[in-house]
Amino acid sequence: MPRLDPRRWKLWSLPPVVLTYVVTIAVLAALVTLATARLTPVEVRHWAWFAALTAAALIHLEAARGIERIREISSEGVPHAQMQSVWQFAGVLVLPMPLVVLMVVTIYLHAWLRVYERRAVLYRKLFSAATVVLGCAAAQWVLAMFSASTPSELDGPRGLIALVIAGFLYWFVNYALVVGAIIMTNPENPLKTALGHASDVLIVTASVGLGSGIAIIATARPWLSPILLLTVLALHMGLLLPQFRVAARTDSKTGLVDATFWHDVAEREIARARRLVSTVGILILDLDHFKQINDTYGHLAGDRVLRAVADALRHAVRSYDLVGRFGGEEFAVLLPGVGTTEVRATAERIRFDIARLEVEVIDRLGNTRVITGLTGSVGASVFPDTATDLSPLLLAADEALYQAKNNGRDRVATAAAR
Ligand code: GH3
Ligand code: MG
Ligand code: MG
Repeated sequence: MPRLDPRRWKLWSLPPVVLTYVVTIAVLAALVTLATARLTPVEVRHWAWFAALTAAALIHLEAARGIERIREISSEGVPHAQMQSVWQFAGVLVLPMPLVVLMVVTIYLHAWLRVYERRAVLYRKLFSAATVVLGCAAAQWVLAMFSASTPSELDGPRGLIALVIAGFLYWFVNYALVVGAIIMTNPENPLKTALGHASDVLIVTASVGLGSGIAIIATARPWLSPILLLTVLALHMGLLLPQFRVAARTDSKTGLVDATFWHDVAEREIARARRLVSTVGILILDLDHFKQINDTYGHLAGDRVLRAVADALRHAVRSYDLVGRFGGEEFAVLLPGVGTTEVRATAERIRFDIARLEVEVIDRLGNTRVITGLTGSVGASVFPDTATDLSPLLLAADEALYQAKNNGRDRVATAAAR
């Protein structure tokens, strides 16, 4: 486990300026936490709210795991809003600072384990958590200034102004610190990229607004809070899911992503692997003599087989690997973190799973038939061993596939290392 050995932390590979910046923010967050620890006594009801808000945040993230993983991949090098702000900002309004910090850390740790499945760099997530802690502290400071430290004191025009300023600072502190880090790490990238999408500001605004509502309901009418959890979940899925259906254009025949989307994600994964000094495995699979299936059983039966192969491919790989349909009976698999030795094993496993398929089809005469003995040829390449850009990697995998076909099909060929 390289992560447990401090000498091997990715953190040390940062340029000194960025390293200093990241450590400073983390230390600041820790200091603020300590400084505020004694300001408000933590009471039993605080623990109850803490438990309820944290549980809601975890349920929320579990439910939206799939969407959030795609958002994380497609927002590499861009700040992106976290809907978790709903719970965090509610926490700002009802919890003393130490419990807010505990909640933020729990949410980020959970996200790191479950959404990013430990693939994200831990220090980055800790840095994000530190910026959120500072944002929360700024917001609580404003509320204290307006003597509105509990939701019941938050009333009248004064309460409204306090809430708006607190919400703004909560967002701004966090946003400015993250943008700062992005600019420092990728100075060559355009500023516009570092600033992120305007729609993310809307997401945070909505989250902060909903969070305020939740804080007020949770303290005044706790039994009604589940309605708000439901609201948050429904909005998150309802608003973000269609956005990704469009982005992740899927192929209707197999349900896999299409070649364009696969390329986009592959480009990002390679950029990420380059930065993290990691590897990416790429497979191209082409079914053998597929034309014969169409000729023997008909085109509809052929489609049925394509669907079965697509399902088998999806099952053969991990949840964050990406299977795409390149057209016809040709598929591509993206395997982040997979190196030269494992890429072959994965390809062999896929070949084995396809050979085991028994696909029930209806042939041209209307008879039910079971198609077995399917085979496929696979070409594999690996970043950075084979090549360091997507196009040459795909060409090399395609060349390897061609070799596999020439050598008798039903086999795996790996592209030679540079
Ligand atoms: P090889 O082992 O050399 O790959 O032989 P093959 O027959 O699989 O290769 P070829 O590329 O000559 O033929 C691919 C066939 O796949 C031709 C086409 O009829 C069929 N095909 C392409 N797209 C679809 C589809 O969406 N549905 C069905 N049913 N068949 C398709
Ligand atoms: Mg073929
Ligand atoms: Mg083909």
